[in-house]
Amino acid sequence: MQDEPIDKETILNELSEIHKLDYNYADGRILGSMCTEAHPFAKEVYCKFLDTNLGDPGLFKGTKHIEGEVIKSIGNLLSLENPYGNIVTGGTEANIMAIRAARNHARKYKGIVDGEIIIPDSAHFSFKKAADMLNLKIVEAKLDDDYKINVESLREAISDKTVAIVAIAGTTELGLIDPIEEISKIAHENNIYFHVDAAFGGFSIPFLKEAGYDLPVFDFSLEGVCSITVDPHKMGLAPIPAGGIIFRKEEYLQVMAVDSPYLTVKTQSTIVGTRLGASSAATYAIMKYFGKKGYSKIARNLMDNTYFLKEGLEEIGYELVCEPELNILAFNHPKIEAHQFAEKLDNLGWKVSVAKCPVAIRMVLMNHIKKSHLKELLEDLKKIY
Ligand SMILES: *Cc1c(COP(=O)(O)O)cnc(C)c1O
Repeated sequence: MQDEPIDKETILNELSEIHKLDYNYADGRILGSMCTEAHPFAKEVYCKFLDTNLGDPGLFKGTKHIEGEVIKSIGNLLSLENPYGNIVTGGTEANIMAIRAARNHARKYKGIVDGEIIIPDSAHFSFKKAADMLNLKIVEAKLDDDYKINVESLREAISDKTVAIVAIAGTTELGLIDPIEEISKIAHENNIYFHVDAAFGGFSIPFLKEAGYDLPVFDFSLEGVCSITVDPHKMGLAPIPAGGIIFRKEEYLQVMAVDSPYLTVKTQSTIVGTRLGASSAATYAIMKYFGKKGYSKIARNLMDNTYFLKEGLEEIGYELVCEPELNILAFNHPKIEAHQFAEKLDNLGWKVSVAKCPVAIRMVLMNHIKKSHLKELLEDLKKIY
């Protein structure tokens, strides 16, 4: 840090120069991100609540009430009347909280010390962080040819050390939904904690189902489901950071509670101490602003764009890795290896990512991608083919 103060103007100019290095969602070139530009109204509300701290809810009773209302709305959307949970920084923190709840619950009620979690190959890497921090062993369930959990392999992976089973509603790489109903039964029969990671799909599957899309059940209407992760900062159009963790029972929060001596409340179950109330307020506002009808329109529009790109790709001759279930497409070039293909697209200004399982170009059709961008993209893809 320099000794003398610098005037605002100079600082702002410097920052906007550096900011130019960042890509812009509005340019329609970011095709590999699960985040998007937040809605302007959500940003406006976010700024109004910047000083609120949900780590000390006795001082921010209003904002704590707002967080409770958001959890209730999201829980209701997921078929749970009395949900418990928190608005956290994202899917990663939500997944870590779920696994921590499962581990502590199994330790308290089953005496499991060296616990294991069963996750599919397609699971988000946040579960590796969770296992590492919580000292749990990862047991991987195999995938079927359709890249969803092989239920038999999952059944075989269960042991008397299993503290949690994880399945995914909207995988990070392909946007696919695991056979959650079957897995829920298995978890319930074996009395094992079952967590559904719907970080990506949570703000779209319920609305698509209501609009008549043929998608499987994934929520609390299945009795085995103990918790669900949902990210408002993906298809919910809330500002970053906003993740949601919803628990079926309060006891899952209680088994994580630690004493919080200097605060206005006696215990705390979240991982983070001082934490944003702005995320809760912005998510509250944007959910009210859109309502089910608004989100349904967004979700259907994203699927329309996905099918538009799919048809364009197939017309050129590209082969998709799988039929899309949500707004993610993965495909390969007949001759060029995926990473080289991604580099070619990068040189043309398209920011795509490469999936690992299977190796393929992956495009996420978020709200900032418009049909006009897709038309331009298809022109470039035609030239490369
Ligand atoms: C995005 C995502 C995560 C991680 O969420 P962050 O908000 O990036 O922490 C976890 N699981 C799934 C399925 C995701 O799509």
